[in-house]
Amino acid sequence: MKKEYLNKFYQKTHEERLHALVSAEVILEEDTSDFKRKLQLPEETANHMIENQISTYELPLGIGLNFFIDQKEYVVPMATEEPSVIAAASSAAKIIRQAGGFKTSIQERTMIGQIALKDVSNMKEAEEIILQHEDQIIEKANQAHPSIVKRGGGARSVKVRQIEADEQYNAPAFFVIHIHIQTLEAMGANIINTMVEAVKPYLESLTGGTAIMGILSNYATECLATATCHIPVSLLRKGSFSGEEVRDRIIEAGQFAVVDPYRAVTHNKGIMNGIDAVVLASGNDTRAIEAGVHAYATRSGQYRSLSNWSKAENGDLVGTMTIPLPVGTVGGSINIHPGAIFSKQLLGNPTAQELEAIIVSVGLGQNFSALKALVTEGIQKGHMGLHAKSLAISAGAVGDQIDLVSNELKKRKNMNLATAKEILEQIKD
Ligand code: NDP
Repeated sequence: MKKEYLNKFYQKTHEERLHALVSAEVILEEDTSDFKRKLQLPEETANHMIENQISTYELPLGIGLNFFIDQKEYVVPMATEEPSVIAAASSAAKIIRQAGGFKTSIQERTMIGQIALKDVSNMKEAEEIILQHEDQIIEKANQAHPSIVKRGGGARSVKVRQIEADEQYNAPAFFVIHIHIQTLEAMGANIINTMVEAVKPYLESLTGGTAIMGILSNYATECLATATCHIPVSLLRKGSFSGEEVRDRIIEAGQFAVVDPYRAVTHNKGIMNGIDAVVLASGNDTRAIEAGVHAYATRSGQYRSLSNWSKAENGDLVGTMTIPLPVGTVGGSINIHPGAIFSKQLLGNPTAQELEAIIVSVGLGQNFSALKALVTEGIQKGHMGLHAKSLAISAGAVGDQIDLVSNELKKRKNMNLATAKEILEQIKD
């Protein structure tokens, strides 16, 4: 990638941006013709994707710049409606690349399918029977989806969880069997659901219980992705704050989000700003990722920050984050939605593990940017600067008026819709 062509990308016109991507060797010249239409979801495809379809719903697609992850350059597709998300991600990535970029470690991708049974009279005995029949259970699961086995994946192991009756919630005891399944490049919901449904009757016969359901678990604790960054204090200086001060304040902000759930939710929401944008652009299931990530944030018994910020022995700021990321590069709408197909191309056709590495890095970068702003100049300065354009559009500005109104708005003390309308009226006069 010839990264230098992407400098000052935000200042370019739409057409210049496409040409910059061509010059940077991120996309091909032929991709630029009729670009917008090619990325649109055709009505016919949309109609087959969901029920009762009446139209499509668009969001802006932008690119996160400066991402250097595991010694590789990336231009990251991000679909989001929120101003400042992409600017914040790109600015974090710019600092972190000067510090050597993000380093990631990705666990072997194993997904979990659950079968829940009730009325198992002797759970201890049933557990022994299940574990004695592990090979047979795996075989039956694999027979239900032979194509994934042919590809080198499939069911790998079986675990049993006994959940005691809970009087407070009026819930009976459940006997739960987890099948650990490798779904390779797919997120694997359909593969897993097919397998667990197929083994349900066998598990009933082994345990004497009644299966109430078989379904994947979105709590993908066996599909974890970790990103780390080490940032020297020389890169952290901001306004009147020294690099050491910014580092220490980021660490404190991180500690606050570890211990206070009210802050942790907002802290993690900021992380998900970046993660959701890439998950969505890549055609993956945002709800699956959101549900799993937030559940992971509660693994200690309290909802806490997903990231961790600390001081290295040499004084660097160290950021690290581990989250479940069962994303895929095939399946669902990934190879159907033109935007998702383009996103994959933009990322250089990554493997699912590589996609995890990109997404977890974007999340950590997003968090770094938010914390750095919060503990120095505050979040509003940068955010409202970008929000000004949305306010201008909401006030009714069109064409050149949008920049005129938003530039004037940024100078005003009260940056709100009323002021934007007032400025627009003045411009029209
Ligand atoms: P699909 O069933 O759409 O596609 C996966 C299929 O892709 C595999 O079965 C395999 O079929 C094929 N494939 C081709 N190449 C590979 C490869 N290298 N590795 C793995 N598979 C490959 O998708 P998923 O099973 O991943 O399911 C994802 C969809 O399910 C998403 O749309 C999600 O929203 C939805 N969903 C999510 C749920 C949840 O999260 N709780 C519940 C239900 C659905 P073959 O081998 O036969 O070619």
